Amino acid sequence: MLDSSVNDAVVTTRLDTVVNWARKNSLWPMPFGTACCAIEFMSVMASKYDLARFGAEAMRFSPRQSDMMLVLGTVTNKMAPVIRTIYAQMAEPKWVISVGVCASTGGMYRTYATLQGIDRVIPVDVYVPGCPPRPESMICGVMKLQEKIEKESLSMRKDHIARFYESLDRQRALEAEKGLTGHQAVHEMLLSAADNGVATIF
Ligand code: SF4
Repeated sequence: MLDSSVNDAVVTTRLDTVVNWARKNSLWPMPFGTACCAIEFMSVMASKYDLARFGAEAMRFSPRQSDMMLVLGTVTNKMAPVIRTIYAQMAEPKWVISVGVCASTGGMYRTYATLQGIDRVIPVDVYVPGCPPRPESMICGVMKLQEKIEKESLSMRKDHIARFYESLDRQRALEAEKGLTGHQAVHEMLLSAADNGVATIF
């Protein structure tokens, strides 16, 4: 028979469960704000909606110190290599929430200059619909991400991340080989992906 004091003191669990519990409750957001959705996000962080209630109040403007990027606004094709570099610089594990129709699909900007969805160049974990999404929708997006993190296994992310870094190596190789800028290299990769019937470059 177990000593009752030992019985009360011992709790067993899985490593994944504990790590994921800590990760989901200590997200460090980094806003990548390019347009009006970023203004809406300000109210999410302020006292009325208060994202701190979800353990995500430590907002950082440095990718090295963040693990949850929120893309808030229209992203142009010229910004595509920038967003890829910032994503690459974030510490792993890292997650991305695409906020609003502009970030998710290009929105109403069906033009040659606008990236038709950031998921063409970086992995996205959660999409928040709306133009702009209400603060409640953004909070819902964070909660959906928390649910996702809860179910992730520690090894599951490896492939996902490896594919992205492999595409970044291809981009760098193209830049060096043909003397292209980051923007031109990503554009060329998007065109060749489209020739193969896919929309993403990773
Ligand atoms: S989705 Fe709407 S509110 Fe958000 S950046 Fe685009 S136009 Fe602005």
